[in-house]
Amino acid sequence: MANIREHCSWVHQSAKDEATSKAMDLVRMAVAKSRLLEPQEEAVTEIEPSALVIGAGVAGIEAAKSIAKKGFQVYLIDKDDTIGGYLNRLTTVNFDFKSTSDMIEDLRNELSSFDNIDLMLESEVTDAKGSIGDFDVVIKTGKKKTELKVGVVVVATGAEALEEKGLYGLKKIPEVITEEEFNHRINTEGALPDDATYAVIHCAGSREDESLEGARTWCSGICCTVALEHTLELLEKHPESRVFHLYRDLRVHYTSEDKYREARKKGVVFIRFDQDSPPEVKKGDSTAVRVEVMDQILGAQLNLDVDYVVLATAMIPPETNKELAEIFKIPTNMSGFFMEAHPKLRPVDFQTDGIYVAGTATAPKPIDESIAQGRGAAARALVPLVSGIRKAEAIVSVVDPEVCVGCGTCEINCSYNAIEVVPGDGGHDYAVSNAVLCQGCGKCAAGCPAGAITMKHFTDDQILAQIRAALSDMPANRPRILTIVCNWCSYAGADSAGVSRFQQPPTVRDIRVMCTGRVSVTHILEAFRQGADMVWISGCHIGDCHYVDGNIAFERRYAIAKKIVEKAGLEPERLQFTQISASEGPIWAEKVKELTEIVEKLGPSPLRKK
Ligand code: SF4
Ligand code: SF4
Repeated sequence: MANIREHCSWVHQSAKDEATSKAMDLVRMAVAKSRLLEPQEEAVTEIEPSALVIGAGVAGIEAAKSIAKKGFQVYLIDKDDTIGGYLNRLTTVNFDFKSTSDMIEDLRNELSSFDNIDLMLESEVTDAKGSIGDFDVVIKTGKKKTELKVGVVVVATGAEALEEKGLYGLKKIPEVITEEEFNHRINTEGALPDDATYAVIHCAGSREDESLEGARTWCSGICCTVALEHTLELLEKHPESRVFHLYRDLRVHYTSEDKYREARKKGVVFIRFDQDSPPEVKKGDSTAVRVEVMDQILGAQLNLDVDYVVLATAMIPPETNKELAEIFKIPTNMSGFFMEAHPKLRPVDFQTDGIYVAGTATAPKPIDESIAQGRGAAARALVPLVSGIRKAEAIVSVVDPEVCVGCGTCEINCSYNAIEVVPGDGGHDYAVSNAVLCQGCGKCAAGCPAGAITMKHFTDDQILAQIRAALSDMPANRPRILTIVCNWCSYAGADSAGVSRFQQPPTVRDIRVMCTGRVSVTHILEAFRQGADMVWISGCHIGDCHYVDGNIAFERRYAIAKKIVEKAGLEPERLQFTQISASEGPIWAEKVKELTEIVEKLGPSPLRKK
């Protein structure tokens, strides 16, 4: 397509001759690409009508029920010998005195009412192959191995509570206990005295200084609220108790703030401390424990003689996440929790199609959010299950095994596990691209040192033909900026400038690719060789790349290209890289003006053909 409206006539209204000349260039560029176009086919995959849900906590159970309700076979597995996950560690939840054992019993009864949910306890995944619609998974239960074929996978492996020996005296001083233990004792007749004094320490093992090795830097999200709930529960049952809450910041959400107000009304004392001077917990003389803390607000050192210290400890990812991440090739973040495709736009998807995630597997969260995510993940998983087929993108990578040298660069670079090196005859390993998983970003093609990868619909020949067409007819006195823009952000940003008629100089000739990750050093050098006065690559903002990190991959290539440009004797300013989003039409127009001024100051490229 030659976009001679938004990218030309609407944005150069007072430069009619130059706009006409640009329109002719854009048409010539489109024709140059069209001559090389080939029909594309979308790969179609049949979807196996069954799901594997890993983790039988509240999120996993909710996902399993939602999928089973639509009539699909579900295999629900858990490494423990019971369902319920973290619920088993608590006695009551949400301060409505709902007993967790009753909740687990209700869930068990509900699950057993489904003929199409196969519950496998004390089981774990030991191997998995395949892709969306066709996963072959091996489940180990004791010594028995079961091979399953499933169409989709939901990961709901949950989180665990930290129990670190020595943390504020935990497991060294018997009266230092966790919130789970506190919850248990509150609900056990005679387990706590009627008029004891408590110091509840928040952020125990959470939000640690990131400069420390192995620091748990994350906020565990729910512990402030849970600590308040347990305190109110205590005061309900033992109203004579005295409670101090030692906190850095109180992070309670929505209606949970009412619990804070209620606790204050009931006489709970809140003491703020600084991260650099955390409370010190020692064995006491007059009482079981002494807590020394610098009150940040009073600016005074306080010594609290208490009967119990209760720790609102961090939620941590299970160790088994690492193995599962390797088996399914799904990412974990620095903390060890699984990493969703996008926290806002795709919170229950992995980048790899057909694998979804729910609950505290990605981060600590309350039970209601975990249940909602279980439903969300099921809804996503049901899309391919219900349709029965999945059509893959037609724009995919294809590897020429004869040219490939098996270096594995593409395998490392691909964010979708869509390309892998396989053993070939006579030791000639080569890469194979999976058309079902490939998202068509082109990062692999731009980075392949052997030039073995062809990106359908965005081949090197097509891009180079557009570059040559854009620069084939350049009046000597007019600067020419060759621009390569990503489909999702900067091309749309230029469109939005056009729709709003933001006027800009007619210096730019733009080429659309799916992602800046597709832009290779060869494309840039060819544009300079053809006489471009400036080469400008523009994509999504860092963190917003439609393909995870294509713009970051290009950033590395940009640094290399910049050095080559300098060595070739060109001013480095002649090569530009910007990030402009789809909504930043005014910024696009301003950038065109700014770059035009730069290129006018620099003068024509010395490589321009005379
Ligand atoms: S980067 Fe290129 S040469 Fe290396 S394995 Fe991939 S396709 Fe083959
Ligand atoms: S085009 Fe992108 S998604 Fe497809 S194999 Fe290459 S790097 Fe992976």
